[in-house]
Amino acid sequence: MRLLIMGPPGAGKGTQAAIIGEHYGVPAISTGNIFRTAITNRTELGERIKRIISEGGYVPDSLTLKVLIERLQEEDAKDGWLLDGFPRTLRQVKALDGELKVHNLHLDAVVSLTADEEAIVQRMLKRAEIENRPDDNEETIRNRMEVYHEQTDPLLDVYRERGLLIEVDGMGDVGEVSQRVLAALAERLGR
Ligand code: ADP
Repeated sequence: MRLLIMGPPGAGKGTQAAIIGEHYGVPAISTGNIFRTAITNRTELGERIKRIISEGGYVPDSLTLKVLIERLQEEDAKDGWLLDGFPRTLRQVKALDGELKVHNLHLDAVVSLTADEEAIVQRMLKRAEIENRPDDNEETIRNRMEVYHEQTDPLLDVYRERGLLIEVDGMGDVGEVSQRVLAALAERLGR
């Protein structure tokens, strides 16, 4: 099973990704989490990207691709995965296409979590107080939303045209949303 989960920042992708990954027995791979771990551990990668992330911009494609491809080569990812927060640019889509093609693999579906933007901005501000993420202040959150619209929103059309997109309402509590997602996937994939 090879899946993507997409949606605006703060739509709850990470939480749903963990549940879906568990359900299908595949690792949920989040580029955002990999980057945050690198920052926490003060690795060379972390030092290079911490400013970009704290300002809400996108990490350059070259670095993101390197990190993702390396992660896909790990043992737990050989029979499938769910990517959370990747791809985010058209170049990343192309790179993922290429990577899949080389291995004669394909995507099974792309879940798009939809959400009311003002509601998720408010939710992220609340989360900022609890989690203390470096990119959860109002200015950065607004910037992340803008970058998302410019660069990532158009990717939904790409996957829609390929017939892979499954849109799911991401508003509501975690259990409600995960039931919707799993039901939509089961209907589409027959498992
Ligand atoms: P969210 O979806 O809430 O913004 P993520 O954890 O997915 O959170 O990402 C956090 C940050 O990590 C992003 O704002 C961006 O700076 C960086 N990032 C994550 N994935 C990518 C990617 N595929 N390409 C470029 N930057 C990324």
